[in-house]
Amino acid sequence: QRPIETLEEACRDTADKRQSVEAGKAVVHWFKSDLRLSDNRGLHTASQIARDNKIPLIGLYILSPEDFAAHSTSPARVDFTIRTLAQLQRDLAEHDIPLYMETQEKRNKIPGRIVELCKKWEVKHLRGNTEYEVDELRRDAKLVRLCAESDIDFTPIPDTCVVSPGALSSQQGKQYAVYTPWFRSWLAFLKENPDYLELSEEPGSNPGDSRKKLSDLFDCQLPASPKNKELSKEEKERFEKMYPAGEHEAFRRLEKFLEEKGQQYAEGRNILPGEHTSLLSPYFASGALSARTAVATAKRMNKNWLDRGDQGYMTWISEVAWRDFYKHVLAHWPFICMNKCFKPEHTNIEWEYDTEHFQAWCDGKTGFPIVDAAMRQLRHCAWMHNRTRMVVSSFLSKDLMIDWRRGERYFMENLIDGDFASNHGGWGFGSSTGVDPQPYFRIFNPLRQSERFDPNGEYIRHWVPELRDIEGKAIHDPYSNQDGAKVAEKNGYPRPIVDHAESRTRALDRFKSALQG
Ligand code: FAD
Repeated sequence: QRPIETLEEACRDTADKRQSVEAGKAVVHWFKSDLRLSDNRGLHTASQIARDNKIPLIGLYILSPEDFAAHSTSPARVDFTIRTLAQLQRDLAEHDIPLYMETQEKRNKIPGRIVELCKKWEVKHLRGNTEYEVDELRRDAKLVRLCAESDIDFTPIPDTCVVSPGALSSQQGKQYAVYTPWFRSWLAFLKENPDYLELSEEPGSNPGDSRKKLSDLFDCQLPASPKNKELSKEEKERFEKMYPAGEHEAFRRLEKFLEEKGQQYAEGRNILPGEHTSLLSPYFASGALSARTAVATAKRMNKNWLDRGDQGYMTWISEVAWRDFYKHVLAHWPFICMNKCFKPEHTNIEWEYDTEHFQAWCDGKTGFPIVDAAMRQLRHCAWMHNRTRMVVSSFLSKDLMIDWRRGERYFMENLIDGDFASNHGGWGFGSSTGVDPQPYFRIFNPLRQSERFDPNGEYIRHWVPELRDIEGKAIHDPYSNQDGAKVAEKNGYPRPIVDHAESRTRALDRFKSALQG
């Protein structure tokens, strides 16, 4: 049984009990990766119960270092989460709603601890939005049953996707494994069910005496960052400047991006120098912005959207939909959470485990300027452009033939927007081992990618200072040209660590023999 079915079963088994619980003294919304007030379905439902029963609403967040470790969460993302919590606490306080936060070292203790808190606060109704990773679904199923045993109604709410996993199936009644027909069906579903794009209201304010009654909870301090996940002071300041936390910043970015760049997105999204994409991924990942709000805003600006409308907005909506697609894939094929390739035949691919090559890739010292620029962008910004995410994942798994799972993990350890489903999906695409992948015989040529998407070499010059003084096209392949080689050598820029043509042949052979074997 899939974990999502385990959760559904727990909800079915406890339905009668959950429906008959009394009001209690307060209602709790358990925040996870949905750190916002606006258009938060779980929070909205909790707020309605509180309002109907004239009792206060309490926000709850439990930080678990084990959860962060299990997902290889980067220090940048941990720091962003803590900063977002600070903003959320301030925003909730404006509605007289406290946000109670604490750290639980052992993540399997979380369900028990939540029940304990509900009992202490005499809470009978608990809400929380569903997360689709395997352990998270199992944790919620356990909590549904534990709560029911104590006469507490915990109802998990589908919120994170525009169209929730399980809602779409092919004509044969199966889960789609290819994006294009899935996206057609996603659009058709929204045409038939426009309410799926209706945004839920922010919670109303708590009753006037709540601050006094819940004063202990209002004093709650932010949890500390797990010890091994600390950023240096310099990194912390840099990321605070680059990614101010919270939903207000997310809205500002969303509106500004759609107004100024939305219409040009279809072409702009592949241009490497400058900013042509929304840079909203950290906000989606932390839940400071809902995918519904993003799509509804783009739809508002793009009048005929269901009939395709403006190409720029439509392309952006289709990118946001990729996030939904990968969550559907994860919910339906949960084994991908277990380091497995999507198709069993890809298990037979013979990978390399060359530590020097892997380190050169991580450090941006492969001698392939486009790859190195991207890997250094990742280190500096905890973010990388989508085009170069494809280039570097293809380079690692095909040119270096290194097991894609090492790259997948390195990304999670470094990205501020690290999201299991999207990251796994992206690595599956780049390494041709995932759902709807790049065909294995289409191997990105780093040089061609560089010439096409960074034609004047601005992206490379920005991130690889050793090559800044190289003029013209030589920037893409410095050692192929006398002047370029002189500059590269003088500044200690490495020669290419592999020969692309030879690596390509090796990758094709390895894939062919795995698929035939
Ligand atoms: P925009 O171009 O403005 O797109 C808007 C939003 O749509 C993004 O914020 C994101 O939520 C979603 N989106 C766009 N492209 C994709 C995509 N291909 N797959 C899924 N969602 C998409 N995205 C993550 O959010 N977290 C990850 O850990 C992650 N890892 C990736 C790893 C690889 C190897 C690859 C190829 C892609 C990965 N992506 C990941 C997808 C994509 O690269 C980023 O979402 C995008 O670059 C974020 O920048 P943006 O917000 O400016 O995107």
